[in-house]
Amino acid sequence: MNYHRFDSIIVGAGGAGLMAALESSKSVGTAVVSKLYPTRSHTGAAQGGIAAALSNLEEDSWENHAYDTIKGGDFLVDQTAAEILCREAIDAIYDLEHMGLPFDRTADGRISQRRFGGHTKPSPDGSGKRVPVMRACHAADRTGHMILQTLYQQCIKQGVTFFDEFHMLDLIMEDGECHGIVAIEIATGELHTFHAKSVLLSTGGFGRIFKVSSNAYALTGDGPAIAWRHGVPLEDMEFFQFHPTGIYRLGILLSEACRGDGGIMFNGKGERFMETYAPNMKDLASRDVCSRAIYQEVRAGRGVGGKDYVYLDIRAETINKYGTSPTGGTVDSHWVEHRLPDIIDFARTYLGVDPIKEPMPIQPTAHYAMGGVPTNIDTEVIRDPSGTVVPGLYSAGESACVSVHGANRLGTNSLVDLVVFGKRAGRAMAEHARQTKFSTKPIDPEAPTKQLIEGVLARPRTEPWVKIRDEMQRTMMDNCGVYRTGETLTTAKNDIAQLQSRYKSTGVQDKGSVFNTGLLEVLELGCLLDLAEATVASALARKESRGAHSREDFPDRDDTNFFGHTLVYRVGEGETSIAYKDVDVITLEKDGQVTTKYPLEIRKY
Ligand SMILES: Cc1cc2nc3c(=O)[nH]c(=O)nc-3n(C[C@H](O)[C@H](O)[C@H](O)COP(=O)(O)OP(=O)(O)OC[C@H]3O[C@@H](n4cnc5c(N)ncnc54)[C@H](O)[C@@H]3O)c2cc1C
Repeated sequence: MNYHRFDSIIVGAGGAGLMAALESSKSVGTAVVSKLYPTRSHTGAAQGGIAAALSNLEEDSWENHAYDTIKGGDFLVDQTAAEILCREAIDAIYDLEHMGLPFDRTADGRISQRRFGGHTKPSPDGSGKRVPVMRACHAADRTGHMILQTLYQQCIKQGVTFFDEFHMLDLIMEDGECHGIVAIEIATGELHTFHAKSVLLSTGGFGRIFKVSSNAYALTGDGPAIAWRHGVPLEDMEFFQFHPTGIYRLGILLSEACRGDGGIMFNGKGERFMETYAPNMKDLASRDVCSRAIYQEVRAGRGVGGKDYVYLDIRAETINKYGTSPTGGTVDSHWVEHRLPDIIDFARTYLGVDPIKEPMPIQPTAHYAMGGVPTNIDTEVIRDPSGTVVPGLYSAGESACVSVHGANRLGTNSLVDLVVFGKRAGRAMAEHARQTKFSTKPIDPEAPTKQLIEGVLARPRTEPWVKIRDEMQRTMMDNCGVYRTGETLTTAKNDIAQLQSRYKSTGVQDKGSVFNTGLLEVLELGCLLDLAEATVASALARKESRGAHSREDFPDRDDTNFFGHTLVYRVGEGETSIAYKDVDVITLEKDGQVTTKYPLEIRKY
């Protein structure tokens, strides 16, 4: 048995994992286990920016940011967590700056900021309206790349141990506590046991359950799926964000920075349709609102050429004509090219369209999981509505649900979530490790994993596993996408159940151990199917529309019956149960009167 022992084991080397590793390794032995080489993690694909109310270009406050985050999440956000996020965001940015992150600068040398959807401040004219604010710090449209490189450099400098291209296949759980993980070394096929006091799941999202997605192929939700199989519930899985501006058919993301910097969406009739759906914020409304608007336009036959896409236009002449440049002045194509170099490159490469001269065909693309492994504000994983902790197990980043994004995340709020809660995770893990002893050496922790692998290798391969994946992605896209109904969700539920049973007899051609990527992809598909099942079950149970979850058969938000977080449990094969957890609401007391700090309101942009 390949045996390793560390105080803290961090699974995943994206922004959340690396930030946690930096913090934890300050005081205890820490290792990062990652199936990808760290700098290939999806954080490196993040484009537009990272939010913090620095007030560098205009007056702003963390309180504005917190209000926007809570409203953006359609009031399902846990408010203490959101306040932590927005308050600690400011120092987090300066931390990154001091580590050497090359942010874009203003003329006088401060960190530059741009607009993003749903980020606002009260209008200076005192009308009570909210107007867009420049809050997203950026390094051109390569912000995530810079964050990932910076954090990785710091980890190397600090001597964090890395196990690159090691794929976690199981958690070591005993009596409801976590004592480590089992991983396969991809190059050799050998299993390794990592015995630990604190384990962090920071394995990223699972957009690959859908057909059209901005997510990398590796985003298969291994962390949440494996935790779920060990009896940990998953929170708010029905809330999956569709980003409005994916490249038509391919799903590759064209960052919201396009609209933050003045870009506009047009339907087939050349109309700026967001004026109808969000008269105040228009193209800078929240993502769920924009994605629904595109679907409505397409359904009404106003897609381009009657097809299922619309245009995103970032030409300087359009920005000038509509007066949407962030500074209010005029811009030229050099400015656009300087602000959005990668996006322009993507459009030229993948679409054959030059966005400096023509508009780009776009459609909503599955982008971000608001749901995930439930945690408290110290990133400790919890197992029930009363917040009982699973000792030794932590989660942060997109795999977690803390919940700062509620029913819909605002753009640029994920990167800041990684840094703020990644750091909190590292701190909490080190603290736990200092206070506990290693459990006795786990007895044969690899047995279930061996059985799993041997099972897949022994299967006859009745059909290619890719077929099962494609069918899952199609039913999820068609029946559990931007709009759903009880009927479509029931179809998805039955489809997934049938796919789960076909999956059991899908083997692989390669029976070897060296770089058996086929085997790993089949195991990843198993995770995706479980998460699809959890998503559909949660969506069926929530008979209301809130944020990214739009039930056409229940079009209104229902705060009487559904003002709570969903916890979905796996109770048996193909069987789930649902419980609800209270939303954390901050109350204020004045003259004996108790009020809420962020009163529920109908969300309009
Ligand atoms: C194209 C794109 C653009 C985006 N732009 C922005 C933006 O501008 N601003 C913003 O705030 N957000 C943005 N987001 C969202 C944001 O980038 C992600 O939510 C965030 O980067 C997730 O980080 P993470 O640390 O949770 O995971 P990731 O960066 O996805 O990393 C996951 C890690 O887990 C590891 N892993 C997974 N499974 C296993 C396993 N079984 N065993 C071992 N290791 C495993 C992987 O190797 C990887 O290292 C964007 C997302 C995309 C897809």
